[in-house]
Amino acid sequence: MRDLRSLLPGELEALLEALGEPKYRARQLFTWLNRGAADFDSLKNLPRALREKLAETSTISALRCLRKSVSQADGTVKYLWELPDGNAVETVVMRYAHGATVCISSQVGCRMGCAFCASAIGGLVRNLTAGEMLAEVLFSQLDYGEKLSNIVLMGIGEPLDNYDEVLRFLRLVNCPEGLNIGMRHISLSTCGLTERIADLAREDLQLTLAISLHAPDDETRSRLMPANRGRGVAEIVKSCQDYFAATGRRITFEYAMIDGVNDSPGQARALADLARQVKAHVNLIPLNHVEERRFAPSRPERMRAFSTVLDRAGVNYTVRRSLGGDVDASCGQLRRKRERTRQEKEGAAEA
Ligand code: SAH
Repeated sequence: MRDLRSLLPGELEALLEALGEPKYRARQLFTWLNRGAADFDSLKNLPRALREKLAETSTISALRCLRKSVSQADGTVKYLWELPDGNAVETVVMRYAHGATVCISSQVGCRMGCAFCASAIGGLVRNLTAGEMLAEVLFSQLDYGEKLSNIVLMGIGEPLDNYDEVLRFLRLVNCPEGLNIGMRHISLSTCGLTERIADLAREDLQLTLAISLHAPDDETRSRLMPANRGRGVAEIVKSCQDYFAATGRRITFEYAMIDGVNDSPGQARALADLARQVKAHVNLIPLNHVEERRFAPSRPERMRAFSTVLDRAGVNYTVRRSLGGDVDASCGQLRRKRERTRQEKEGAAEA
């Protein structure tokens, strides 16, 4: 069945027109859906007959909170949401000086296989629909009790591996009658699916594209990120240059610092070189420890030496604060815990 929350205003209009309803009904419906209506009963000013007719052929994606954790350290809130089909995804709300930012998941699981990431364990289960991604923002906003002004697609999943639904989601949140969040308030992070970066460049959106680079050389990068194989750093650099030329938007390189793997001064020099070629801003992030993974974060003195090299090379960079460390607020860690507990329970039941 069709998820009404995934529909754009024009599509709702066409749908209601086909049901013999006037245009303003579509506007009312879009408003309810984009305020976080959870079911047909909450569409208060729509006639009951219409609600019933809609319910025959469509659904409204709603999320149920399985777990909410609030960081004692910085107020970061992490939600584990249950999707209508019983799968779960994570959404994080962080407070920054410029407003509250919501970090959403774009898939259940991920098939990119990055060696340091909790979301890759167990592979891809399915794509999220645009309506489900929108529901992540809406349900988080309702609970958080404050307008969420920025969106980052940096949760579970590879957004460019779910291209069509992610683009639809971006159009939805961009609607003036909906959340009305401007593209400049949205960041999308990718492991570097170059063919999709080229598609995105053609859309000419004013969003910020972040590339999870994590290593400047193919040997290290392909070891950490299987998606690098068959593409390579040079191809990523080229697609970033093309993206910048097409959109005028500066690209961000994400760089998670891993002890003894990607944190040598030589790699810092190589990274500086790439950043200069792309005019990219670099985000250094200390790796978050993931229970199932053997990697450790870089030691502070290694990080200092690394950033000194970037400094000398005149690279624009920030060392990102790690928010929500006490609530497992990084990529897929809560969902993993739920999966582990479920497997243990199933194991116990089988034994
Ligand atoms: N698939 C997309 C977006 C999701 S991940 C991407 O690859 O960009 C968001 C960011 O968190 C990515 O930069 C990812 O590489 C990074 N990340 C994943 N696991 C991490 C960990 N254990 N510590 C620090 N960053 C991590």
